[in-house]
Amino acid sequence: MRRHVDYALARRAVLRELRKGRLGRHEVCDAQVELVRAARNVGEPAGADCPVCGSAGLVLVSYVYGEALRRANGRCVDATELATLDATHSEFARYVVEVCPDCRWNHLQRRELHGRRDAV
Ligand SMILES: [Zn+2]
Repeated sequence: MRRHVDYALARRAVLRELRKGRLGRHEVCDAQVELVRAARNVGEPAGADCPVCGSAGLVLVSYVYGEALRRANGRCVDATELATLDATHSEFARYVVEVCPDCRWNHLQRRELHGRRDAV
């Protein structure tokens, strides 16, 4: 099992604050243009509806970070690119962001460590 950090608690806390009116919708539905574009282009179905607007268009977008990735560092990748990086690079981190292109809700879902640890 890959080491990973789950942000479900933080997500639930944000949604709770939103329901109680302590956070405005504009504060949680603030995805940048670039993130919304990535969601439309390479987002993978999240398997759940948007927790804010109920849209079925909720997707997951992955970003990878790691010095070993060089040019790919900080890039948004799809599943195929992720598999390639996994096989060819030493440790790097993948951040999975949940994004709703309809209302622009976005939240970090989890952070995973990837790559070949035995790579030099
Ligand atoms: Zn939404």
